[in-house]
Amino acid sequence: MKKICVEEHWGSPDMEEIRTQWRARTGFPVSMDPKALPLIPPRLRDFEQTRLPLMDESGITMQVLSTSSPGVQGLADAAGAIAVARKINDDQAGIIRKYPGRFAGLAAMPTQDPKAAADELERAVTQLGFKGAMILGHTNGEYLDHEKFWIIWERAEALGVPIYLHPAEPLVDQIKIYDGRPEFMGPAWSWGVETGTHALRIIGAGVFDAFPKTTLILGHMGEMLPYMTVRIDEGYEMTFHKKKLNKLPSDYIRENIMITTSGKYSAGALLCALRELGANHILFAGDYPWVTPKEAVELIERVPMSETEKEMIYHGNAERLFKL
Ligand code: MN
Repeated sequence: MKKICVEEHWGSPDMEEIRTQWRARTGFPVSMDPKALPLIPPRLRDFEQTRLPLMDESGITMQVLSTSSPGVQGLADAAGAIAVARKINDDQAGIIRKYPGRFAGLAAMPTQDPKAAADELERAVTQLGFKGAMILGHTNGEYLDHEKFWIIWERAEALGVPIYLHPAEPLVDQIKIYDGRPEFMGPAWSWGVETGTHALRIIGAGVFDAFPKTTLILGHMGEMLPYMTVRIDEGYEMTFHKKKLNKLPSDYIRENIMITTSGKYSAGALLCALRELGANHILFAGDYPWVTPKEAVELIERVPMSETEKEMIYHGNAERLFKL
């Protein structure tokens, strides 16, 4: 069975420099132990030594590539972000050209200048053949529900491409709840909370009422949203809201959001997503190099589902959404 995985990262010296600058500027504490992750830096840069052999070993036909964290969102200034996004996208297009049929790409976006980001998305899709964009969390503390960013949603809808919202660190002034417990910052918990909340902001602002054909992709089994659908609707209806939506929040979660299996999850978590969203809203992903293709495939294989559902998750949904 063909397998296309859609949240697979690569790293460049540009991204290492952005990470260094971001850490220096924000003072964000280091929570990841580099000793626990010795394979990540070399695997981010490599394609031939390890990546393609691991893909072949697990029957991965194609990886949809995107930049590693913190992405272009790690930069403060718009001019630098525009230049670097363009370079990263051109470099990524070069990788895709070098290995025909094995890779596709999501564009890096200079969201520091929303109009420039929309234009870069259009260039990446129409000239480089990319399949959508990836945005890594907030931009200098502003989230994608803000009206200044709606030009990006509008352009994505017009181009017919999805936007993948990838986890990022929260703002430094919001991490008090993790004081003394840095082990739950990052993949264990804070990234899911940050990204799930960001997605709810986008729903709450009415982005999907304004641009109903837009698709937002969330990794990591939907950043906790599938588990929370009924609770979110119930809470939403009993609180003051600034904007009256056409539908309930869970309707947008089911209609405008596609989730992916990136990261390490239990069979129960995938069963929950299948029940809540349906197989046609789930995309296969690993989160390479953090998760190997073998681990990504093992998750799908240990969950009871029909062959039709498996076909949708492994490749059918990706082919439809990304027009592969
Ligand atoms: Mn990732």
